Amino acid sequence: MVAPARLLVVIRLLDQQYGRPGWVPRFQPVEELVYTILSQNTSDINAERSLASLKRIYPDWERVARAPASGIAAAVRSGGLAGAKARYIRETLSGLLAEHGSLKMDFLGRMSDSEAIEYLTKFPGVGVKTASCVLLFSLGRPVMPVDTHVYRVCKRLDFLPQDASRENAHRVLNAMVPPGETYSLHVNLIRLGRQVCVAGRPRCDRCVIERLCPSSRLCD
Ligand code: SF4
Repeated sequence: MVAPARLLVVIRLLDQQYGRPGWVPRFQPVEELVYTILSQNTSDINAERSLASLKRIYPDWERVARAPASGIAAAVRSGGLAGAKARYIRETLSGLLAEHGSLKMDFLGRMSDSEAIEYLTKFPGVGVKTASCVLLFSLGRPVMPVDTHVYRVCKRLDFLPQDASRENAHRVLNAMVPPGETYSLHVNLIRLGRQVCVAGRPRCDRCVIERLCPSSRLCD
């Protein structure tokens, strides 16, 4: 799909407003995977605290893969849903270790983006958004994670159908966004979603893309 002209203008205006973020790897793939599971239904600060606590108690990821889920849950308690997240982390890491003999996740380099997403999402607690975060943030691959901000803002901008499911949103956006724009657009949509196009009543009068947005009347 060719990117609509309106999307390209949105990208340019967001770059001007927020700067154009350059990709640098955030974590190694396994750590990104664990961090994204820990970030489910909580703030970035809580997820970072949980990750730091987990790494303090288990100095390498293979130990986490072999640890009892109860031990992992105790380590990540501050992020909420500790029991479920611990189970997901334990089962996912032990499954990856059993299948590949290490947790380097080099095998992702031999898979296409869609193969990698299909493979990773077979593990518990790993949805399309979590798999996309691993590919984008850790490996710099042009895959747009559809988090709550991207989902809300893109629906308001009419880049997504109003009734789009998250999975459908993933397909539509990844077909629409030019690969070289994925990272910066993702980061800038989150900035816009946190500061201006917030949940509830958006602050359209402060929005740099107001004239391009069919939902700008939401703030009237
Ligand atoms: S104009 Fe309003 S609804 Fe549209 S993107 Fe900006 S803040 Fe969101």
